[in-house]
Amino acid sequence: MIGRFKLTNVSRSIAKINARSCSLLQKGWRRLCKIVANYLDLIVLNSILGRAPEISMNLFYLFVSLLICVSTRADGNTRTQVKQSTERVEPNIIAWRRDFHEHPELGNREIRTAGIVAKHLEALGIEVKTGVAKTGVVGLLKGAKPGPVVALRADMDGLPVTERGGLPFASKVKTTFNGRETGVMHACGHDTHVAMLLGVADVLAGMKNDLHGTVKFIFQPCEEGPPFGEEGGAELMVKEGVMENPHVDVVFGQHIWSNLEVGKIQYRPGGTMASSSDLQIIVKGKSAHGATPWSSIDPIVVAAQIINNLQPIISRNLNISQNPGIVTIGSIHGGNRFNIIPETVELMGTIRAFSPGDEKMLSDRVKQVALKTAESAGATAEVKIPYSVRCPVTFNNPALTEMMLPSLKKSAGAENVTMMPPKTVAEDFSFYQEKAPGLFVFLGGMPAGGNAETAPAHHTPDFTVDEGALKLGVETLANLALDYMELSQK
Ligand SMILES: [Zn+2]
Ligand SMILES: [Zn+2]
Repeated sequence: MIGRFKLTNVSRSIAKINARSCSLLQKGWRRLCKIVANYLDLIVLNSILGRAPEISMNLFYLFVSLLICVSTRADGNTRTQVKQSTERVEPNIIAWRRDFHEHPELGNREIRTAGIVAKHLEALGIEVKTGVAKTGVVGLLKGAKPGPVVALRADMDGLPVTERGGLPFASKVKTTFNGRETGVMHACGHDTHVAMLLGVADVLAGMKNDLHGTVKFIFQPCEEGPPFGEEGGAELMVKEGVMENPHVDVVFGQHIWSNLEVGKIQYRPGGTMASSSDLQIIVKGKSAHGATPWSSIDPIVVAAQIINNLQPIISRNLNISQNPGIVTIGSIHGGNRFNIIPETVELMGTIRAFSPGDEKMLSDRVKQVALKTAESAGATAEVKIPYSVRCPVTFNNPALTEMMLPSLKKSAGAENVTMMPPKTVAEDFSFYQEKAPGLFVFLGGMPAGGNAETAPAHHTPDFTVDEGALKLGVETLANLALDYMELSQK
């Protein structure tokens, strides 16, 4: 019995260690270990009874080898496969990225880009739907095994920015935007997003037989906001049913970031990027000669009072210990001559918040302050919030963020994954997160050793990213999908 005890303990210890080392498959793995442990008990019993002890010991060693072998395969193999496949497709990812960079297209006009995307997905045997939300492409990769539907998203649009700098694949595209001639540039890095998601499609299509679920690839147009008078972007994709048929259980996305070093990933649970609503306030007064202001109701003075009265909303109404928020007036138009008091003044601005509650509060207070300030002067104000665009808070589901953190750390290395402060820019990925739990992370795109303070900002003519970042982006999204599927088996 002593021998049996010892060997059983050994087998259980190995099982324990291995089970810990492959947390993603813990449940199934424990079951396997239990079977093996029981079998070892039987062998030991035989050896105690004097039946062919050398065969029993050989079998024991065989089982131990099997245990170690299977345990390394469980977690490491998938990851190694992702890494190797990513390395294999890296030259293609870079080539796609350069091609998209050289041929950027504005929002709702991504016809060439969408064509290349659809063609590649089809070549991989992925079910493809085109023309979603105008130029969007949705690919469906059905794994051989049942499991959740995981959506992965990339945005495809460029910006009306004229590129500077001497990249051999710099954009020379020109267009007319809002009546003015301008260059078109991938000045937010969406070229890299499309290329990386095509790479992910390649990697995961090669693992189709092992996939526990379905991957929905969302190639979205117009993230930067639709041209005036048009619908577009994530909001329209959701409206056209991208989160249904099949219903999406979880959605992942990433944004390359020009002042975060290559190899790093940043994340944040909860409010990560701000909600954004534009606003318009039209102040109506009474016109008069500039020399007889007493006979006017001066909308310029009222507009100035409104701007001042809006300032305490952030300092006195918002709980800044929880979340930041912003009220900015970015343009003011009124009058056309120095000695005429005009009848109206138009103010345009933006409101940013990090929770749906704050978003509503800030919007209500701006309306109230504008209306009452105007009223107190005998003027009127018309307030439109949103005026033309609204984007909800990019809210990373906290439980999902916690659940997927080990996956991020395995892709980038634990020391390269850090929590970030909230970003006051907005991202329409939030519309998907209103329909399913989602996680949106930031991928370093600044060359190693670069200066985050001076790295060219997004949306500027000098914006650039280090292509060395793309590999990690592919691995990150592929591993998020695979790990979520594995975790869902439990
Ligand atoms: Zn942007
Ligand atoms: Zn962007």
